[in-house]
Amino acid sequence: MSLDNLTSCAAVDLDAIEHNLRAIQAHVGPGVRLCAVVKANAYGHGVLPVARAALDAGAQWLAVARVDEGIQLRQAGITQPVLVIGYAVPGEAAALVQYRLTPTVNRIEVAWALSQQAQGHPVTVHVKVDTGIGRYGLLPDEVLPFLSHLRALPDLHLEGMYTHFATADAADQTYMRQQLATYQEVLAAVREAGYAVPIRHAANSAAALSLPDSYLDMVRIGIAMYGLAPSDEVPSPVTLRPALSLISHVARVRTLPAGSSIGYGRTYICAEPTRVALVPLGYGDGYRRALSNRGQVLIGGQRAAIIGRVSMDQITVDVTHIPGVQEDDEVVLIGAQGDAAITADEIARLTGTINYEVTTALLPRLPRVFKRQGEAVAAARLIPPDSTAS
Ligand SMILES: *Cc1c(COP(=O)(O)O)cnc(C)c1O
Repeated sequence: MSLDNLTSCAAVDLDAIEHNLRAIQAHVGPGVRLCAVVKANAYGHGVLPVARAALDAGAQWLAVARVDEGIQLRQAGITQPVLVIGYAVPGEAAALVQYRLTPTVNRIEVAWALSQQAQGHPVTVHVKVDTGIGRYGLLPDEVLPFLSHLRALPDLHLEGMYTHFATADAADQTYMRQQLATYQEVLAAVREAGYAVPIRHAANSAAALSLPDSYLDMVRIGIAMYGLAPSDEVPSPVTLRPALSLISHVARVRTLPAGSSIGYGRTYICAEPTRVALVPLGYGDGYRRALSNRGQVLIGGQRAAIIGRVSMDQITVDVTHIPGVQEDDEVVLIGAQGDAAITADEIARLTGTINYEVTTALLPRLPRVFKRQGEAVAAARLIPPDSTAS
C-alpha cells in the first residue's frame, strides 16, 4: 500500500496495541479477562483495525460508550461480546437486542424495553454501581431493589456488575480502595440475596496497573492499550509502547526577511531573516490552536518551533537552525524521529489537558494509517480507498 498520496496522517502501530495488551494480560494474570475499551474511535486511533488487533491480542470483550459505536463493530463483522458502558435510552433497546450488544442497565424503563424486544431470546445485561464517582450507575442502596425488578422481567439475564474509579490515576489510593470496598460490600449483599454475578469488573487502566485487588473477573483497558500512561502519578510496571504518531510533510520552505509577520493576527514577527516551513495540518485535523507559538515539531531529527497561530489547515515552523530542509521532508508532530521524540503527554502539558484528549481530539479528516512491522497495511480515510490512486 502506498502512502505517497497522503500529506498528513495518524500512523497507528497495531503491533504496539497488541504488545501493550499482551503485557497487561501478563501483568494481571491469565485468569483475568481483558475488555478493550475502543470508545470514541478507539481514543482517536481508528476503531476497526484497533478492535481487531485487540481481539488478536487476546481481549475477550470490547467496550464502547454509545449504541452506534457498538453497531459499527457488528456491521464490520465483529462477533465478540461488546459492552456498552454509556447510557442508552429506551428507544435504543431494539438496536441493542438486534445487534446483540451488552447494555449497562440502571433504569427500569430501559430494562422493560429490552425485555419487550427480547422476544424469547435471552438478553444479557450488566449493572453498574456508582461507588463514588457521582455519574452513571445505581447507588449501593438501590442495587437490590433494582435487581428484584430485573428478575421479574422475562428474558433478561444478569451477566455482570461493575463499578468505575474516580481517582485510580492518583498516587494516593485511599479513595480508590474505599470505592473497591463499597463495591465488594454490594457484591456480597447481592450474592447473599441469591443472585449470581458471573463477571465482576472494576479496574480501568490505572487500577489494572496498580491495584491487584481490583482485577476480579475482568479489567477494562483503554489508555494503556494505546501505550499511554494513565497519569504521571502511576508509574507503569509494564513497558507501554505508544501506538500513535502524528505525521505530516513540509509543503513549502522559504526564507522571510526580518520584520515579516506570520499567520493570522500577526502574533509572530521575525526578528531576523527566518527560514519558515509550512506544514499542512491544523486544528481542522485536531491539532489544537492552543499550540500557537508554543508547540514544537520534529524535522530532520531536530525540534522546530511553531511560529504564529495554528490555522485550520496549516502551521508554520522555524527551521532556520536545521540545514537542508526541503519540501516533502517528513514532519513528526507526535512520535519519534531519529533520536528525538514528542509525546502526547508533552502536547497535553502545553495545552492544559491530558493525553487522552490529545489523541481523541484527532478529527475524521485526518487519515489513519495502520501499520504492522513498520509497513502500512490498511487506512481509514474520508473517501473509500478505491476512489483514490493507491
Ligand atoms: C473509558 C472507560 C474505561 C477506560 O479507562 P482508561 O483509563 O482509558 O483505561 C473503563 N471503564 C469505563 C466505565 C470507562 O468509561
